[in-house]
Parts: sequence; C-alpha cells; structure tokens
Amino acid sequence: MFQWKKLLTVGALCIASVMTLAGCGGQQAATSSSSSSSSASSSAAQTIKVGSAVDFAPFEFQDEGQAEYQGFDMDLIRAIAKEMGVEVEIQNIGFDGLIPALQAKTVDVLISGMTINDERKQNVTFSDPYYESGLTMVVREDEQNIKSFQDLKGHKVAVQIGTTSAKEVKKIEGVEVKEFNTPADCFMELKSGGADAVINDRPVNDYFITKSGQTGVKELEEKLTSENYGIAVAKDNTELAGKINAALKKLKENGEYDKIYAKWFGGAKK
Ligand code: GLN
Repeated sequence: MFQWKKLLTVGALCIASVMTLAGCGGQQAATSSSSSSSSASSSAAQTIKVGSAVDFAPFEFQDEGQAEYQGFDMDLIRAIAKEMGVEVEIQNIGFDGLIPALQAKTVDVLISGMTINDERKQNVTFSDPYYESGLTMVVREDEQNIKSFQDLKGHKVAVQIGTTSAKEVKKIEGVEVKEFNTPADCFMELKSGGADAVINDRPVNDYFITKSGQTGVKELEEKLTSENYGIAVAKDNTELAGKINAALKKLKENGEYDKIYAKWFGGAKK
C-alpha cells in the first residue's frame, strides 16, 4: 500500500533541511566600513561578492565561536575593498566550486590562496600576484621511508580536490592518490594511517604544524613547486581586475600590505 503519511514526512524533512542549509549557508556580510552611516547614505556603497574556501589557515579560516572569517586573504580583500570604496560580502564555497561560482556569477571575486596557472587562466582573469607560495609535504614524525618526493612511489598521498597539489601529485609515478575536500581531512587521513603523506601549500603546512601545535607529524623542506597566488574575477571582467590591481599596488606602497603580512606571517615581506 502506498504510504502517504511517510511520503509527507519525508517531504517535510527535505524542506526543513533545505531551509536549514540556506540559513547556515556560510554567507557573511563582512564589511570593513559597516558603520550605520555608510549603508544609510544616499549613495549606498556597492557590495562585491567574494567567494573563498574558508578552511585554509592562515589565509582563510573561522575559529570556533567566532563569527568573522579571518586570515591573510580576508584582511587583504577587506583592505582592497576599502581602497575601492566598496563593501564585501564573503561566501564560503568549497575550493573546487569556486571557479564555477564565479562563472555562474554567484560571486564577483575569488580570493582563496588560489594559484595562478594557465589552466585556470582559460576560465578566469587573475590579478597581479599577491603571495609567493609553493607545495611541500607533511609525513608522520616516525616516517623512515619518505624523505623526498621521489620516495613517494608505492605510497598513499592525500591531497585536496581541485588544487595544484592534486594536479602535481598525479605527475609522480606509482603514487596512490587520495583526494579530500579540505586540507583538514587530508591531515586526518595522514594521522590515522590512511595516507603516508599530505602534499599541500607550504604556508598552510607551516601553520598547521607550528601554529596549531600538531604533534606526530613533520614537514619536509623540499619544495615540489613555486607558485603565486592571485585574486580571480570573471574572464571578461578586466575592469574589476584593473581596480583590484590598483588597490593592491596602493596597499603595497602605503605599508598596509606589509602590516597584514606581518600580522599573519610575522615579519615584513622582503
Ligand atoms: N594554492 C592551491 C591551489 O590553488 C591550493 C589552494 C587552496 O586549497 N585553497 O590549487
């Protein structure tokens, strides 16, 4: 017999969960000038929508119990917006969903420790580089066999889906690649023994080990790549890219960039 009651209950649950998701969808109006006067003024400031995968400390993350997204990228984009005279609204989107969100115009800008590369340049326009990065590897502290990327053959390596790490690890012969949604998931896999190494961005590996006081793991010094981060806008939105570049240049000239850099990385950038 057809169970109408059951169907109704399931339907109601679906609607409820969709509403819950919409309610906690990680939207955050993070404005640098959110004083009441600016939004109430006759020429209300324009808001740019920013997409970021907020699980990449120290670039973008959210501490438990804290409403604001924080990190180097978050401070930088707020400073850029302030310079441009606009407000920002930051949306948390999974890393592999960022470029599709930009293409669908769900957001206007991406800042997410995103490496500038030719493949992405086919789909987005990048700002000037704003941070020099690269890939390193984290292994368990007692690891004896993996001392270099060349030793990875026959081992399981955890990487974040859609990243340069995922792309580069596939070039190393004989590696069993395991892809996860976030770096935190990759590190968990390493600690539990499901993977023998994690390849990820150097500053994020540094931060994971030094700042979050992780034990039982170590980062190897060898770098697999050198990479530059850029802020991405829609491919045809060169006007916005130009404005972002002008703001970035200003922040580098007036010392604001160095201040943000020192806050997160301790020390002025050379
Ligand atoms: N820099 C890497 C990339 O662009 C990883 C970025 C990230 O995970 N947020 O692929």
